[in-house]
Amino acid sequence: MALTKWWRKVTLREREAGHAPGEPLLEVLRVSMHYNGVVALEEISFTVEPGERIAVVGPNGAGKSTLLKIIAGVLTPTAGSVRIYGHGPQGHLCIAYIPQRNQVDWNFPLTVAYVVLMGGVGMMGLLRHPSARDWEAVRQALERVDMLDLADRPIRALSGGQQQRMFIARALAQEAELLLMDEPFTGLDLPAQEGILELLEGLRRQGVTVLVATHDLEQAAAYFDRVLLLNRRLVAFGIPEQVFTPEALRTAYGGHLRLVQIGDELIVVGDTCCEGG
Ligand code: ADP
Repeated sequence: MALTKWWRKVTLREREAGHAPGEPLLEVLRVSMHYNGVVALEEISFTVEPGERIAVVGPNGAGKSTLLKIIAGVLTPTAGSVRIYGHGPQGHLCIAYIPQRNQVDWNFPLTVAYVVLMGGVGMMGLLRHPSARDWEAVRQALERVDMLDLADRPIRALSGGQQQRMFIARALAQEAELLLMDEPFTGLDLPAQEGILELLEGLRRQGVTVLVATHDLEQAAAYFDRVLLLNRRLVAFGIPEQVFTPEALRTAYGGHLRLVQIGDELIVVGDTCCEGG
């Protein structure tokens, strides 16, 4: 058997082995995280079903990034556990994690196509030469995010929106079932944000589950099925109408958020989510 076929077989078998029948896509069980005495997360528990779009919201320092990194298997929690289809997240091929853009070394000498390719071939696959099938998957993924013409562009020459779309293409090539995105809209203009939201809508139709950390409450309410409101503890988790109550928002944001009740509507008029207010 050709070496390339053997690697591919191992990769697919691993994916199947990582899915226990009847288990939820994602189960976070009493997860706590302490960094040198700083409590970032305390006893967080929730489950997510396939195809849901979840917004993770909360003030600066609420633990949003930490939660995403723990689900991705990048960080190990101090206590508690994360289960993806009943198994730990480490090395799970079906998870794609997109960090905040400022955490990526954009000067790394890679082209768009290679970044997408690395999602498709997985860690073990890096030991072999990419096949024509791998490159075809890259082409299709780039086409889906409308970036085929930028395949050979160095990643340092991309706009913020293109950077995010490239990572979504990478998740598509990886055939990810759970996509974790940390503040993907920050610093993007409105058309670029709308482009990403449209792609997320397409992923939902495909059954891909998406968890997005965002500080934009309006966007969370308008575009996501459920909202997880966090401030070290889980303040509320449910459909936006259930989560965005004056009580829950005050618990999460304290005095940093000004809420105005006009008739039946709750209007958020101030949010000091970002440094400097
Ligand atoms: P958010 O994404 O909601 O802004 P973070 O998860 O980045 O929150 O941070 C939660 C808390 O953990 C903050 O108090 C932050 O200062 C702290 N923290 C995050 N990363 C580290 C780290 N690597 N070392 C020490 N403290 C950290």
